[in-house]
Amino acid sequence: MKFNTKTIHGKQHPDKAYGAVMPPIYQTSTYAQNSPGKTLKYAYGRSGNPTRHALENTFASIENGEYGLAFGSGVAAIDAVLKLLSPGDEVITTNDLYGGTYRLFTKIFEDFGIKFHFVGLANISNMIPFINENTKLIWIETPTNPMMNIIDIREVAAIAHDHNLLLAVDNTFATPYLQQPLDLGADIVMHSATKYLGGHSDLIMGGLVVRDKALADRLYFIQNASGAICGPQDSFLALRGIKTLHVRMQRHCENGKAIAHYLKDHPKVDKVYWPGFEDHPNHHIAKSQMSDFGGMISFTTKEDTLASAYDIVKKLKLFTLAESLGGVESLAGHPATMTHAAIPKAEREKIGVKDSLIRLSVGIEDEEDLINDLRQALD
Ligand SMILES: *Cc1c(COP(=O)(O)O)cnc(C)c1O
Repeated sequence: MKFNTKTIHGKQHPDKAYGAVMPPIYQTSTYAQNSPGKTLKYAYGRSGNPTRHALENTFASIENGEYGLAFGSGVAAIDAVLKLLSPGDEVITTNDLYGGTYRLFTKIFEDFGIKFHFVGLANISNMIPFINENTKLIWIETPTNPMMNIIDIREVAAIAHDHNLLLAVDNTFATPYLQQPLDLGADIVMHSATKYLGGHSDLIMGGLVVRDKALADRLYFIQNASGAICGPQDSFLALRGIKTLHVRMQRHCENGKAIAHYLKDHPKVDKVYWPGFEDHPNHHIAKSQMSDFGGMISFTTKEDTLASAYDIVKKLKLFTLAESLGGVESLAGHPATMTHAAIPKAEREKIGVKDSLIRLSVGIEDEEDLINDLRQALD
């Protein structure tokens, strides 16, 4: 089954009781038992729910995995993966991580005795000196936020497996429409389904997908024991969102490409960060592991001041100034004040997050309307 069919039919079947085409929302905390300990299938809502289960199967299907798990948020899904580790274990990760992931690693798990190495992984050889007998996990994002760096998943997977390490890939930005990390050698795929998978800016949700049964069993144990599950209503919304993922992503990519080129040619714009440009440092890797380049774009202005960036984001009318990404509506963000404000200015500028940097999540509106909006804000 091809991807564009899987989003609609993959591991999804009409409901057995009445043939409902969409999985019903089983809004229940518990399930009647015929005799003590004899359940039909489910015993308690934290351990399992048919609507959540339908979503978990869909997650697995679209990521070419075997087992899916749904969580109450993206960071809850990351939290579950980190709970596979023990005190003394070490993790290698990127130096331009999503801010919430960075906070979870440094403010929660460091206190539990886990050590993190934040390394620039656009050049993979940088990670080799950090591998030792305590290393257990490599955690990457690609493209990264907000600089759109690209990491070679096949190469990281080869190194991970040579050293018996788990490789987890946060696939939130690319989505399985563009990139399928398990096929490239990753062991775990993680999603903030809040973004493109949900796609309508109406829920907070996380997901994990794996192929290995033993790993799935451990993660399921953690999901149930720690309890960061998502509810049946949100599971239904995510299922509905995923049905149109391929159609939305196609338009996100088309609009993204048009806007990236428009910005690149604009006299007031300095740099445009988008992996589809041939002069992007890892364009060849993006081409080899992604089927297209997505709708996330960052850019700086030639004036290069905080005021110039504020002026532009305030003048935008169709692009809403907001956190988050991946919804049908276009959003603009100012990383230095918003998503990356917690990182000291000097550190932030080392990875390229200047005061004049603006990040766009290009939506699926009319391309000409979006370009006109940028034109009036820039001019
Ligand atoms: C939003 C996001 C997360 C966290 O997900 P939540 O659903 O907000 O908890 C993790 N990684 C990336 C890349 C994100 O964009």
